[in-house]
Amino acid sequence: MRSSIIPIFIPHLGCPNNCVFCDQRQIASAEAPSADRVREIIDKALEYAVRPQISFYGGSFTAIGNELMESYLKAAWPYVEDGRCDSIRLSTRPDAIDPERLEILKKYGVRTIELGTQSMADHVLTASGRGHDAEATRRASALIHEYGFELILQMMVGLPGASIEDELYTAREICALGPMGVRIYPTCVIGGTPLYEMYKRGIYKDLSIDEAVDICADLLDIFEEKGIKVVRLGLNPTEELSGGAVKAGAYHPALGEMVYSRRFLKDILKKAPNVPYEILVPPRMLSIAIGQKKCNLEYLKNNTSLAAIKARKGIEEPEIRII
Ligand code: SF4
Repeated sequence: MRSSIIPIFIPHLGCPNNCVFCDQRQIASAEAPSADRVREIIDKALEYAVRPQISFYGGSFTAIGNELMESYLKAAWPYVEDGRCDSIRLSTRPDAIDPERLEILKKYGVRTIELGTQSMADHVLTASGRGHDAEATRRASALIHEYGFELILQMMVGLPGASIEDELYTAREICALGPMGVRIYPTCVIGGTPLYEMYKRGIYKDLSIDEAVDICADLLDIFEEKGIKVVRLGLNPTEELSGGAVKAGAYHPALGEMVYSRRFLKDILKKAPNVPYEILVPPRMLSIAIGQKKCNLEYLKNNTSLAAIKARKGIEEPEIRII
């Protein structure tokens, strides 16, 4: 059982790629930490955390050059070796995975690799300036499994040129790669990025929060039906993002909860009887069932014969009861 994560941000300085949504050029004003700084961060975190996992995130960890990558891993590995930390995880690009780099990761106790898949539709990857194709994700995922790492795949929703069919296709293709979990990030248009320029010039139409929530609810179903855990929905809220860095697109600090609420609504709409009824839910599900600002409750009252949504102790799943 992993208790927590020590996040260590490694900016991808000098990245040669040109992903249109990327704000690394702004974030990269933060310098890459030294190996000593990595040790300091871990030591500090260990004052509170019990056997946490060390997480190198932010850029493309395996694309920063083997020497720098190894210096970070050498700093982190002793904590894993002596049991103070559980293991190491990192995020990277599919085209920055090869046997040589995986051998290095294996040597230093890396357990989990997250790949920025973003889309499995090549025309979307091209329009987004990703610089790799879907085949790169297939190849990298197979290698990661072959070397015995845990695999997490990240997808983005609402990238340039992506239709709803492309999003559903991406989810199904990701399922076929057998990841342990997925992260779903609706695209946010961040000031200063090429995507923001495309948005201002009308070349890119952003996804509204409502559209993103709706698509993500369907993606959630696809992944969960295959037993793949959705470990994150939407960007982690930060002061910067909430404070105006996001110019358009589907950013909301509570996006994950909104998606679960929408999924609940869609599910009830499939089953709602034509006679007056109420919905009983376990207490932990009440706010998801009712929805933000009571949106589910209002919608179901206005469009079906719902009388009420009530919390009921002792039940595990929502129940529809005719009244
Ligand atoms: S998102 Fe793309 S451009 Fe930005 S750091 Fe990663 S690979 Fe480079």
